Amino acid sequence: MIGERVAVVVGGGILGNTIAYWLSHLRGTKVFVMEKERDTSIHTTSRNTGMVHRPFYMNPQKKKVLATSASISYYLWKEFASSHNLPWNEVGTLEVAKTEEQVKTIEKYEKWALINGVQENQISILNREQIREIERNVSAPGGILSKTDTSTDYGILSNKIAEINKINGVRYLFNSRVMDIRSEKRTLQYFIDDSTTKRQMTCDLLINAAGNRSLDLAHRDGTALDKSVMYFRGEYWKVDENLKGFVSRNIYSVADNPEFPFLDPHLIVRPNGTLEIGPNAVPVSGPEFYREGMGKNKEFFPILKRPLSPKINLLLNPQFIKLAMGEWKSSLSQREMIGRVNSFIPNMDFRKAKVRGFSGIRGSLVDKHGFVPETIVQNKENCLHVLNYNSPGATGSPYFSYLLYNSILKNGLLEDNKGQDHISHEIWKDVDSYNTKSELLLF
Ligand SMILES: Cc1cc2nc3c(=O)[nH]c(=O)nc-3n(C[C@H](O)[C@H](O)[C@H](O)COP(=O)(O)OP(=O)(O)OC[C@H]3O[C@@H](n4cnc5c(N)ncnc54)[C@H](O)[C@@H]3O)c2cc1C
Repeated sequence: MIGERVAVVVGGGILGNTIAYWLSHLRGTKVFVMEKERDTSIHTTSRNTGMVHRPFYMNPQKKKVLATSASISYYLWKEFASSHNLPWNEVGTLEVAKTEEQVKTIEKYEKWALINGVQENQISILNREQIREIERNVSAPGGILSKTDTSTDYGILSNKIAEINKINGVRYLFNSRVMDIRSEKRTLQYFIDDSTTKRQMTCDLLINAAGNRSLDLAHRDGTALDKSVMYFRGEYWKVDENLKGFVSRNIYSVADNPEFPFLDPHLIVRPNGTLEIGPNAVPVSGPEFYREGMGKNKEFFPILKRPLSPKINLLLNPQFIKLAMGEWKSSLSQREMIGRVNSFIPNMDFRKAKVRGFSGIRGSLVDKHGFVPETIVQNKENCLHVLNYNSPGATGSPYFSYLLYNSILKNGLLEDNKGQDHISHEIWKDVDSYNTKSELLLF
């Protein structure tokens, strides 16, 4: 078609799929998703805790975009899962204080929850006795109950979006690894490696949603050169099926060191009701260094990529090193891992978790100030780089990608060519009815 525009999304994870979904609404724009694997959603999207997090624990100032996205996306996912009969187990989360001091954090969470759009009747603050009443195996001086946290399977949700995208005309190119981006005369060229040939393509807009590898691509485009990435592997242990009812909701504890990406492991309920313990956060040297074996991309210590100074700063920080050692210990021994959970679930017997679950890897951005707290969208000419898209990124992806889509239109990077016919399988027709007061622009 004459005058047709081309938008390319790099990465067929949950973020790339939801971005492509919104872009498919644009009449006169052809949307491609390029994915280096043979299928969508096989990396972080399918290797996580699977929780639809309500954003009660997120600082509304520091994490405004992700908190807003998570808050609204809960309703979008719920509607989607219900209309397509996908996993949705609204188990709830009890997050406990381990010390009297942490009870203040719990009280702060209640305020944050309301600012972030969680409804008053969806949370409650509990004291020690009230915790005992609802969870007899949990012992803690206080906690917050988030009633609508939901256990799901993001791999399944994301693959369903990809299926709908295909119906809407989005083209998926698999085994297509974008190696390079070159910006010339407002068109982009990039090389695709399908293991046999290198090809080039031009497009009007490229969106880098390559997950743990998005910083690599941004660097290739000369963007975010002051930033570096550290990788942390989250591992899970499966709890013996006989302990299925040991707790009836997820049990989290307040993070001891929120400035570092070391969450304390939790006891989580999977959609089928089985329990798992995890994740820890073990420093590893690459984005696909899973415990079960490497991804197909053999590479030599990606952690050595430049710039090195933000990483060296961290390695010189004694507190970081101490915490990292603790995470390594919990990777080697399940007794160590469960010992951490025993501080608030004292009767949990470590011998009941014998089998390892899968592992997933989080790439956290670092710069000279330390860990970067929020997701960043960098706009370089007709190229958008989504960086540091971490938890609760799977929860927030429908609304985050809608904000990105709106920002693209407002900045004139693409437009809706209204004169043409357009067929689209709608999922979230009423997205604007969930609108918050502020209009968030991502770049
Ligand atoms: C241990 C762990 C637990 C988590 N738990 C939760 C949770 O309970 N709830 C929640 O909301 N969030 C959770 N998260 C975060 C959430 O999983 C991520 O934010 C989300 O999955 C990121 O999706 P993505 O599409 O950006 O990344 P990915 O799923 O990794 O997708 C990126 C895709 O890009 C492809 N790609 C990379 N480079 C290229 C290239 N050059 N060319 C072509 N393709 C490329 C990859 O193959 C991959 O398919 C967790 C994360 C971890 C690590």
